[in-house]
Amino acid sequence: MSFTLHGIPVSRGIAIGRAYLIAPAALDVDHYLIEPDQIGEEIARFHAAQEAVHAELDALREDLAADAPSEMGAFINVHSMILNDAMLVQETIDLVRTRRYNVEWALTEQLQILSRHFDDIEDEYLRERKADIEQVVERVLKALAGAPSTASLVAHNAASNGHNEMIVVAHDIAPADMLQFKTQAFKGFVTDLGGRTSHTAIVARSLGIPASVGVQQASALIRQNDLIIVDGDHGIVIVDPAPIVLEEYSYRQSEKVLEQRKLQRLKFSPTQTLDGTKIELCANIELPDDAQTAVEAGAMGVGLFRTEFLFMNHKNRLPEEEEQFEAYKRAIELMNGRPVTIRTIDVGADKPLDSMGGDGYETAPNPALGLRAIRWSLSEPQMFMTQLRAILRASAFGPTKILIPMLAHAQEIDQTLDLIQEAKRQLDDAGIAYDPNVQVGAMIEIPAAAIAVRLFLKRLDFLSIGTNDLIQYTLAIDRADNAVAHLYDPLHPAVLNLIAFTLREANRAGVPVSICGEMAGDPTATRLLLGLGLTEFSMHPSQLLVVKQEILRSNLKAFEKPVADVLAAYEPAELATALAQLQKA
Ligand code: PEP
Ligand code: MG
Repeated sequence: MSFTLHGIPVSRGIAIGRAYLIAPAALDVDHYLIEPDQIGEEIARFHAAQEAVHAELDALREDLAADAPSEMGAFINVHSMILNDAMLVQETIDLVRTRRYNVEWALTEQLQILSRHFDDIEDEYLRERKADIEQVVERVLKALAGAPSTASLVAHNAASNGHNEMIVVAHDIAPADMLQFKTQAFKGFVTDLGGRTSHTAIVARSLGIPASVGVQQASALIRQNDLIIVDGDHGIVIVDPAPIVLEEYSYRQSEKVLEQRKLQRLKFSPTQTLDGTKIELCANIELPDDAQTAVEAGAMGVGLFRTEFLFMNHKNRLPEEEEQFEAYKRAIELMNGRPVTIRTIDVGADKPLDSMGGDGYETAPNPALGLRAIRWSLSEPQMFMTQLRAILRASAFGPTKILIPMLAHAQEIDQTLDLIQEAKRQLDDAGIAYDPNVQVGAMIEIPAAAIAVRLFLKRLDFLSIGTNDLIQYTLAIDRADNAVAHLYDPLHPAVLNLIAFTLREANRAGVPVSICGEMAGDPTATRLLLGLGLTEFSMHPSQLLVVKQEILRSNLKAFEKPVADVLAAYEPAELATALAQLQKA
C-alpha cells in the first residue's frame, strides 16, 4: 500500500530506491547491580570499550577520502573528544563506583542526564549536538556487547545483498557512519530524528545526497526493501509509490541530474547579469575549516565568519588570543588571497555562552532584546580587546575585514572604533604586524540601524545587512520561537522597504553593502535583491551556484518596473502579482 511521510527537507534532490533499514539504537540495555569487588573489572571493561571505539574512529579518520567533505574530519574529532569528556567518562565511572550499576546502565543513565541538559538549550544547532553524544554512547555500548559497528555491518550487508540503489532509513545516523555509506551505493537518507542543522543534515548536504530528516516514525513504518522515493526538496518520503508517481519522479530525477551538471559548469564563469553588472558571491562560514568548502564552491571570499561558534566550544572559558589568532589565520590562509570578513562575537539571545556568567543574563525576560552581540562585547571590554587583537594579528596573513553585529547607536559605533584603535596601538607597542588599513563594517540588523543608516555610512567602511535579525526585529518575531514561526516573513512590505532603503542609501554614498542573512542564499529572492541594487551576496556555500544561475539569467533593466511595483505593494495580492511579474521579467 502506498503512503507518504513528511519530514524536514535538508538536502535537495530526488532519490528512488529500496529501503535499507538500520536497526534503532541499542540503548536498551541490561540493568543490574555489581558486587563491590567487581567495580575494578567493570571499569576496565568500560575503558576497553572506550579504546575499541577510539580505534574505530581513528580507522574512520584514516579512511577519509581526499575529497571527503571537510566537516567529516571535524565530526570524527568531535566524537573522539566526547569519548574522552569527563562529563561522560568520569561521571559514568562514578555511577559504577558509587551506585554499583553495571557499566551499560551507568552509561545510559549518564546519557539521560546529559540529554536533559541539552533539551533545555534554546539554540537549535547546539541542542542537536545531543545526537553526537548519543551516537558515541551507542558505539561504546556496541563495543561492550562485542557487536560490529553500524558502518561495518552496513558495508557487509550492502556487499552481500547486491542492491545498488539503496536508501538508508534509520532512527538517526552518525555522520561518521554516513561517510562510510558514501562508498556504498546509497542514494538517499531518511531519519526519524534530526533538524535542519543536525550533523546528518549537514553531511548529507555536503555529500549532495537527497535527505529528509525528522520524518517521525519512518523507521517504524517503512519495511526492509520497500520501494521508496525521497524528495529532498520538500522533505517528502513516498513509500511503495503507484507506477504513475514513480514515473513522474523518475522524470524529475533525470531533470535534476542534468540541472546539477549544468550548475557545476557555472563554477568558474564570472558572476554577472545579462546587462554586464558584476556581482560578488561570498560564503558564510562557522568554523575556520569551512573556508575550504567555500573555496570549493567558488566563493570569492568569506562574507560572514560567525566567530561565536569558536567560542561555543569552550565550556568554562573563552579562547585565548593565541588560539583565536590561529583560527582566524587558518580561515584567511585557506581563502588564499580572497577577503575574509570576520564578525566579532555575536552571543546572547539564542546563542548563550556558558562563560557569559550570571549578571542577570539568564534571568533577562527577553534575551533577544537584551545584552547581545556588540552590546555584550562592549560590556566585556577585555574579552573584546582580545578578539580584536587576534583578528588584527591575523590580518597580516591576508585580506581581512572586521564586521560588528547588532549596532544601533552612534556611541556604540564610536566606542567600537576607539577600541579597534586601542588594539592597534597595543600591537604597535608590542611590535606585532597587522594590516593598518583593515576595513571595519557594521551589520544592519536592527530596524533603527536601517532607518538611521546615515550614522553608519559616515563612520564605517562597509555594511552587511543581516536579514535574519532584521526580519525578527522588524516584525517582533523571535527567530527561535516555533509558536510564531509562521509570521516570520522576509517579504513583508516593512522588511522589503527597510532593505531597499539601506541599499539605496549605501549605494548612493558609495559605501559597499552586502546581505549575509538567509535571504541572500534563497534563489527565489535573487531577482528581487538584484533589483533593489544588491551587488554583494554572502550565503551558505551550498547555495552559491543556484543563486549564481539566477544572476546569470537576470537583466537588471527589466527588473526596474516590477521591483518598483513590489515596493509600492502593501496588499498581499498586489505583492504576489508584482513578484510574479518580476519572476517573468
Ligand atoms: C543575520 O542576522 O541575518 C545574520 C546573518 O546573523 P545571524 O544569523 O548569525 O544572527
Ligand atoms: Mg544576526
